[in-house]
Amino acid sequence: MSKSSEKPKQHDELGEAHECPICKDMEFIFYKDDQGYEFAKPCECRERKAWKRRFKQALIPDEFVHAKFENFKRVNEYQQAMYQMTIDYLNEFSVIKQEDGTKKKIMPNKNLGFIAVVGEQRLRELPAGERAEAKRQHNNFGVGKTHLQIALAKRLIKDGFNVLVVSDVTFMDELIQAKMMNDEGETLDRLLYSAIHADVLVWDDIGKAKWSEAKEALYYQIINERYRKQKPIVFNSNEDRGTLSEKIGYAAASRLIGQCGSYLREIEGEDFRLQKSG
Ligand SMILES: [Zn+2]
Repeated sequence: MSKSSEKPKQHDELGEAHECPICKDMEFIFYKDDQGYEFAKPCECRERKAWKRRFKQALIPDEFVHAKFENFKRVNEYQQAMYQMTIDYLNEFSVIKQEDGTKKKIMPNKNLGFIAVVGEQRLRELPAGERAEAKRQHNNFGVGKTHLQIALAKRLIKDGFNVLVVSDVTFMDELIQAKMMNDEGETLDRLLYSAIHADVLVWDDIGKAKWSEAKEALYYQIINERYRKQKPIVFNSNEDRGTLSEKIGYAAASRLIGQCGSYLREIEGEDFRLQKSG
C-alpha cells in the first residue's frame, strides 16, 4: 500500500508527531468527574484506527487494494451471477449491538467458493494438440473471482470482522518453512492460529501450490478446524471439483465444497485482463 494516502501527522507543542491531535494517539480521552475520579472515553479516531489495523492485518494483495463491488465489471451473465452470489453472502453477515454495549458478530456457517468447470490440472494432462483449444474454451483466468472476494473482504473488515486473506502458493510455502523451523513449532502455531481463528478466511487460488503429503495434512487441518468452529472460508480456485481433490486432498476438498451449500459457482469465460492490455 502506498504511504502517500495516509494523513500527514500533526505536531503538538513539544514537537511530537501524532496522527490524532485530540487524543495524541492514545485512542482514549481522559476526563475527571465531579469527585475528581478519572475516566476515559474512546476518541473519535479509535474506530478509524481499528479499521486501519484490521485492513493491514488482512494482507490484501497490492494489486487488489482498489477492488470494490462498485468497480467490478458486470458485462455478462456469469459475472452478474458471481456478483449477486457475493452480495447475498455478504448479507448473511451482521454486527448486532447488545444491551450491555458489546457487539455480537453474526456469520454464516457456510463457505463461498468460485471454482473452474474444467480445472487447470485436467487441462495440463490433455494431449498437447488439444490443450490450447480446451484452454480457450474453458478459460477461468481473469474472470474476476479474486476481485469480488477482496471486495467482500474489505466490506467485512469495515463492518468489524477480522479477515485474513491468504494466497495459496505463498501461504503453503510459509507453512512448510515454519514446519521445518527449529523453534518447537512456535512459528507454525502462530500461522495456523490466525488462519483458524480469523472470523473470515479468504483463500485465493486454493489448490495452486504443488501437492505434497505435508501440505495435504495442513489443508485438512485448517479447513476442518474452521468447520468445527463454524467459521466461514471464502475461496476461489482454478481447479474443478475433481482436480481440487487431487491438489488439496479428498477429505479437505469435500469438506470445503460441502460447506458451500448454494454458495458454490463453477465459472468459465473470457479473460478480461487480456482485453484490457490488448
Ligand atoms: Zn484520537
